[in-house]
Amino acid sequence: MIELKTPAEIEQMRPAGAFVAEVLTELAARVAVGVNLLKLDQIAHDMIRARGAESCYIDYHPSFGASPFGKVLCTSVNDAVLHGLPFDYALREGDVVSLDFAASVDGWVSDSALTVIVGTPRSPEDTRLIEVTTEALAAGIAAAQPGGRLGDISAAIGAVASAAGYGINTDFGGHGVGRTMHGDPHVPNNGRAGRGLPLRPGLVIAIEPWFLESTDKIYTDKDGWTLRSADGSTGAHMEHTVAITESGPLVLTARS
Ligand code: MG
Repeated sequence: MIELKTPAEIEQMRPAGAFVAEVLTELAARVAVGVNLLKLDQIAHDMIRARGAESCYIDYHPSFGASPFGKVLCTSVNDAVLHGLPFDYALREGDVVSLDFAASVDGWVSDSALTVIVGTPRSPEDTRLIEVTTEALAAGIAAAQPGGRLGDISAAIGAVASAAGYGINTDFGGHGVGRTMHGDPHVPNNGRAGRGLPLRPGLVIAIEPWFLESTDKIYTDKDGWTLRSADGSTGAHMEHTVAITESGPLVLTARS
């Protein structure tokens, strides 16, 4: 079911968006050689507690998950790209790390992700992957206009990826966001402009392109959660929670 939020409800969603942005800004600043993924999760946990927020991940147990997630942050490093379960790993020079964080504040959820390189990039390909994924997110947001169609967003993301030569996996993509983290509609990272759900003011969605350097195939790590590239190539993931308003897209998780 598609839920449309009133302008007042979208205003109520702003604190959750601001908090998620604040946490990701802090975590990105803390990423460095030697920092443990469990430490990043602990920082996020402490910020949730201090804010009186609720984690969307810790008890998350969908049909595809082996058990409840148990952490508050997804940390996907190098060939991992989505749903990375934090484990005892100290970041190394050149690692490509995606941080995905969702939390509820005042009963409203926001969901956002970013990808950064630890220290000096290992290759120009890693830098380019992150740039293209960032560009795809911006294109998807720009296409989230009232009067448009969901396919406009998907097509805009897909066009950026295709132009850069990346494959696109549409099994996992964006989603409706509201009182809970995952709602309708599914927002695939490729599609046809002018098709699909009409974009009406009040629709709030997570837009989240993710690409792999040389494949569109993934597999689930033996931890039961982490999704890794089939060929070992690097992945990147960028996500914002976006409200469609009368005047255009409003990025609730914008970082200053
Ligand atoms: Mg997310």
